[in-house]
Amino acid sequence: HVIQEQRLKYLTDEKRIKAVTVLFSDLEGRLHMLDYDKKFLVKSYDNLTFDGSSIRGFTAQRESDLRLGIDWSAFYWAPADVFGPGKVLVFGEVIDKQGGTYSADIRGVLKKFSQELHEKQGYTLNAANEIEGFLFEGTDAERLFHETGKFEYVNKGGYYHSLPGDPLREFIDMTAEVQRAMGFENEKDHPEVAPSQFEINYSYGEVVAAADQIQLYKLICRQVANQMGMTASFLPKPVVGVNGSGMHTNVSITKGGKNLFWDPKGEEKISKMAWSFVDRILTHGNDICLLLNASVNAYRRLDPHFEAPNQIKASAVDRGSMIRIPIGNEKSSRVEVRSVGPDANPYMVLYSIFKSGLDGETAKIKNLRQAERYLPDNVYTALENFRESAWTTKLLGADVKGRYADLKQASADRCPRLLGTVVKTPEIQFH
Ligand code: GLN
Ligand code: MG
Ligand code: MG
Ligand code: MG
Repeated sequence: HVIQEQRLKYLTDEKRIKAVTVLFSDLEGRLHMLDYDKKFLVKSYDNLTFDGSSIRGFTAQRESDLRLGIDWSAFYWAPADVFGPGKVLVFGEVIDKQGGTYSADIRGVLKKFSQELHEKQGYTLNAANEIEGFLFEGTDAERLFHETGKFEYVNKGGYYHSLPGDPLREFIDMTAEVQRAMGFENEKDHPEVAPSQFEINYSYGEVVAAADQIQLYKLICRQVANQMGMTASFLPKPVVGVNGSGMHTNVSITKGGKNLFWDPKGEEKISKMAWSFVDRILTHGNDICLLLNASVNAYRRLDPHFEAPNQIKASAVDRGSMIRIPIGNEKSSRVEVRSVGPDANPYMVLYSIFKSGLDGETAKIKNLRQAERYLPDNVYTALENFRESAWTTKLLGADVKGRYADLKQASADRCPRLLGTVVKTPEIQFH
């Protein structure tokens, strides 16, 4: 409430601000933005409504009106050279008829989950995502792909390879600068292994803020690329024969500032709690795969020859394992989930990882962490696993689970059914 008062005062006092962009995401993770005139928003922020029937995975026509609340704690200054003059960004919360969290607004679901854990157990959930992407020639590269059948790299570099004047380097520098201006704590950035591929890392954060920042990161990358006459793409596997793009998700839990995943005497220096978290995620690896790898194209990425995992294992070294335990210390000790595509709904990714890791079951499989178990290699198998899983019903409720599965089924069915053969076309989905 204090934050709300502060923000409202700031909006009123700051004459240069003219409009407030409110952001929320649909069930598949597409970011939606609507601009409110500042004066109107300051007056009417507690009485905003919108038509939910045009948002994928939201309401049916007959119950289409939804309320939009403002999450005043998720407030970002929007640099004018990227977002246009006089704007700030704030994340919205979708509210149902009864005034509660709307079940298909996964941001709200994640927030409620993390707040309840904080109240009951004192836990703070932390996440850091390493989001890879490609930079392609032209502002419309993803659509153009349908006509030309290929993407044009902007450089031929490789891992850590960039020179001043290289368009990829200029893009990375500009993006990092915009992030800093918006309050991200940047750490490092570099060209990735594939030509024209990038990764820009910033600090971990509390889980909801971390998910918001994934949405903002992709938005900034797309805006900056567009201004430079290029396209930033977060397709997991846009080009056959080179590395795809992942969204490695590093997670830890702190309590009273203490990292509960760290144990210098534990196996791989992580705690029993962290290992039990890992075991539960491995147990549900197949159940939640569709939530972490949410597109047809995501399954083409899951190939250990290209540093992307296809095994439901945990390992300190093997990058073909779904979970890796990076070297850490008291502060940085964490678990890295590698089987995540950058086009997944970030709120869904973090919710399903934390919920499964904390409340999931532990399978009675001998040597669970090293057993020969594989992630599905195509979206249809992932869909089947997801639909049949009792765990995903617990996770999302039958209604939202069904809507999500139907959306994924529909987008899979729009793609040519060429499973088992070599396909040269990645299936474009705009996230
Ligand atoms: N691009 C790889 C992936 O798809 C990761 C490579 C790396 O970070 N070194 O997950
Ligand atoms: Mg990395
Ligand atoms: Mg990387
Ligand atoms: Mg990594």
